[in-house]
Amino acid sequence: MKQLKMLHFTCFVALVFLLLALPASAGDDGLMAQVYDVAGEELGGLDAENILIITDIGSPAESYVFLDDFYAEFYGNGLLYTKNLLVVQNPRNSPLWFAFFNKSTGDCVFIEVSYGDVEEISYRVTENINFEELAADADSRAAWNGKISEKVFKGREFAIVTIANAWATGELDYELMQCLELHNHFCPGVSSGYVLANWVEDNYPLEDGVSYTVFSCPVWCKEDVFIKRWDTTPGTKGLWVSDLTAEEKEALGGSPAGIFVVTDKNAGTIKAVVLGFDFTPVNEGCGAQDGDPAWVSKYLMDLWMMDKDNWAQEGLVYEIAVIDIDADTLNEMKQADVNPYVVLGLLNPAGKATPSKNGISGIGQWMNEPKIKAKA
Ligand SMILES: [Zn+2]
Repeated sequence: MKQLKMLHFTCFVALVFLLLALPASAGDDGLMAQVYDVAGEELGGLDAENILIITDIGSPAESYVFLDDFYAEFYGNGLLYTKNLLVVQNPRNSPLWFAFFNKSTGDCVFIEVSYGDVEEISYRVTENINFEELAADADSRAAWNGKISEKVFKGREFAIVTIANAWATGELDYELMQCLELHNHFCPGVSSGYVLANWVEDNYPLEDGVSYTVFSCPVWCKEDVFIKRWDTTPGTKGLWVSDLTAEEKEALGGSPAGIFVVTDKNAGTIKAVVLGFDFTPVNEGCGAQDGDPAWVSKYLMDLWMMDKDNWAQEGLVYEIAVIDIDADTLNEMKQADVNPYVVLGLLNPAGKATPSKNGISGIGQWMNEPKIKAKA
């Protein structure tokens, strides 16, 4: 009898320990585990060969609290940081969202979560976003345009479709992906920045003692590449942003991209390298047609610019001028109400007409609007 009681007691103790131990593994029921579970179920598994996760985790207010769990699940599934992940920057008032993409099927699970008082998946949808399928014919394009209007991915359709499909080609440079993290979408503007950055590095190598100062004038999506790649942040006085009027652009040959000042401490030189970027070769070579929705033509432009063989195309990146300057001139270029091209003598001060409200047409606000161009 005593032995039986002892056995009961032992069983009881074991049960208590088991119950106490449960919360340790209850992390499996945490919000991040739920997100991965849903994605895994929808996609038929999360294998490192086929999965890309795009998320803004860390950007939304206090979403950092999920970072450890997120990465525990990420590595627990055998996924790799440089192969299966793109963490984009979003504003602090953004929702916390995740897109799980399977390149072998084209399926994408988009999930939004709420957190704070209640932690739960607040929105989820699975769509096939294989670009070839979406862009196949008028019906498929109209169907996806409809999904964009419905904001099926809560307004992130353009970003997710372009990044996921570009990644699926296996040709998306990881250093370009790092720029997309900052820019949070993949557009021809950021692609042109990548081409320009490589051109500058090829022709004015970023060697020891060399630094760049960028006058982003006119400004478009390209600037975020320079910030990521060269640490030319506005706060460290590496990047000065302003715009040009249509007349000023015309006076500079039609396609000015900016002034890249190369300071070489060892040589004691400062060169203002004035560059142009012409989208004409991109438009002609990428295969986009008049009437293509923006998400089609812009993705095709991205693909064309991802191909390094196209970078040497005549007229794509070109030197407008290379001018030796001194520190005083560089300082003058940075002042408010001064046009750096005027300081360099490339524009007449009289050329400063009314400021343009929008930049080069088609550059800048490249997000989700299916701007269907009228047929010429
Ligand atoms: Zn952009």
